[in-house]
Amino acid sequence: MFNLILFGPPGAGKGTHSLRLMDKYGLVHISTGDIFRAETSNKTELGMKAKAFMDKGELVPDEVVIDMLFSVMDRHKKAKGFVFDGFPRTIVQAEKFEEMLEERKVPVSLVISLAVDDEELIRRLVKRGLESGRTDDTEEIIRQRLNVYNNQTKPLLDFYTKKNLLHSVHGIGSIDDIFERVCTTIDHNIKN
Ligand code: AMP
Repeated sequence: MFNLILFGPPGAGKGTHSLRLMDKYGLVHISTGDIFRAETSNKTELGMKAKAFMDKGELVPDEVVIDMLFSVMDRHKKAKGFVFDGFPRTIVQAEKFEEMLEERKVPVSLVISLAVDDEELIRRLVKRGLESGRTDDTEEIIRQRLNVYNNQTKPLLDFYTKKNLLHSVHGIGSIDDIFERVCTTIDHNIKN
């Protein structure tokens, strides 16, 4: 089973490249942000709980995210692998995730980090907000999300470096060029 974590700050291109990876490698794509947005628009209890945090640019509490993620994975028992987009985002999430994968005797295969500087991230997210109407893509909330990334999510780079799983990919350029870098990294490091 191939489990790929596509890692990076908001606006790094995780969503764009996850969709392509899903097609190319036959993986199931799990975007925790997309799931929360769908739950929010369906006005479910989970969606309403998540919305309160998303609107402020804060992280949804770990236990809520983890329960949701495990139940989504359980719905795909026959998957040949997953691409995780926007998960894990805290050390607690990564540790729980590792425990859960160990129980199921499957590994985290690879973590690819898309490296993009803050100025470019803000430019991309403001543009996306104007085009998509995503309510957390306003400059004030974007800055808050980048703070949250730096404080709570970035420590995962160290966590996965220590496990020899992290590969950084330069995330600026054309989508095709970046995708090629991502695929080359996967193909060179895939262990079957
Ligand atoms: P994203 O679409 O990945 O940028 O996520 C949008 C928002 O959903 C984030 O700003 C968080 O509020 C919430 N969210 C998504 N994934 C997670 C996660 N793994 N942990 C906590 N909150 C999350």
